[in-house]
Amino acid sequence: MYGKIKDHLQKELAAIQEAGLFKHERIIVSPQQAEIKLDSGQTVLNFCANNYLGLSNHPALIQAAKEALDTHGYGMSSVRFICGTTDLHKTLERKIAEFFGTDDTILYAACFDANGGVFEPLLGEEDAIISDSLNHASIIDGVRLCKAKRFRYQNADVKDLEAQLIAAQDCRFRIVVTDGVFSMDGNVAPMDKIVELCKKYDALVMVDECHSAGVVGETGRGVTELFNIRGEVDIITGTLGKAFGGAIGGFTTGKKEIIEILRQRSRPYLFSNSLPPNVVNAGIKMFDMMSETHELQDKLHDNTEYFMSKMTAAGFDIKPTKSAICAIMLYDAKLSQVMASRLLEEGIYVIGFYYPVVPKGLARIRVQLSAGHERKHLDKAINAFIKVGKELGVIK
Ligand SMILES: *Cc1c(COP(=O)(O)O)cnc(C)c1O
Repeated sequence: MYGKIKDHLQKELAAIQEAGLFKHERIIVSPQQAEIKLDSGQTVLNFCANNYLGLSNHPALIQAAKEALDTHGYGMSSVRFICGTTDLHKTLERKIAEFFGTDDTILYAACFDANGGVFEPLLGEEDAIISDSLNHASIIDGVRLCKAKRFRYQNADVKDLEAQLIAAQDCRFRIVVTDGVFSMDGNVAPMDKIVELCKKYDALVMVDECHSAGVVGETGRGVTELFNIRGEVDIITGTLGKAFGGAIGGFTTGKKEIIEILRQRSRPYLFSNSLPPNVVNAGIKMFDMMSETHELQDKLHDNTEYFMSKMTAAGFDIKPTKSAICAIMLYDAKLSQVMASRLLEEGIYVIGFYYPVVPKGLARIRVQLSAGHERKHLDKAINAFIKVGKELGVIK
């Protein structure tokens, strides 16, 4: 009977409301892009999407998606190993491997599934997973589904990582896993040092490139390009839902035998539907574009540098980064909310984050830059930040 749990859930919901943690969804009535329209009728500049390369509404990707609807239909109605694999799926897997310089790739419905299904097929209770303390929820869940021993090191702290590697030396296999870019601070994992330690202590390396692939490195190949360690990371996971078009889809790419075992044993791959052909074909088009030119990366890197330098000059407290995530530190939870809503009134859509999403006392506004932003968009945002920042006493 629904009665008893209904009361309970109503109380839980009221508690979430009271704590000020209830998540409301803003409704967008236009395509995802730099300038979006809300259902209130207001047009705002979007600085909180993961649309790093501005591809979410790109004509070439839309065209590729439309073409695949005609050639391959709408849905697959199957998992990959029964009758859900098309020539398009195989082509996309090959293109992702070429992009990252890896042996092979396996597609998933989302990176949440890629991370959820990567550990359990590879490791058992004799083994160890050594995980960064700020890793994404999907990595944490993936680790939970695996019987391997768990070790945790402080965010991007290579000294602590070394201590954990030493503590895990008795295990059969060790794997170190980290996000490439951490989404709240925008900091980049110190991959060169991580790889060095993994060599010294005989561990595998896995990096989740969701916020770094397409973004960091001169041509957007991610952290392995940024740190010049191509081929030295054993497992890379990533998403088609952020820089790479923003639709849906995840992947694991890396060593041949690892990908083959995942095809045999990874549960989200075996027991969940295949990606639709239109999404896959747009993905193929996207990686073709990435291999032809890195002008979108150039523009994103220019935009990020421009925004960061203007904001720093205006007196804002900004976390240094090589990513496209700019954390504007405010330290006060209420201020982060007031400032974000004032900015929205000024036509700038950004989100303020506070505890428990970030540590207590470290509230902030997160700005995500995009190659889809033009200089006039950046200037409008910077001017709005300066106006509202002065108004609220954040800057002088
Ligand atoms: C967004 C994100 C994911 C999840 O990706 P989806 O494809 O949206 O499921 C996983 N890991 C990290 C680090 C992310 O930022």
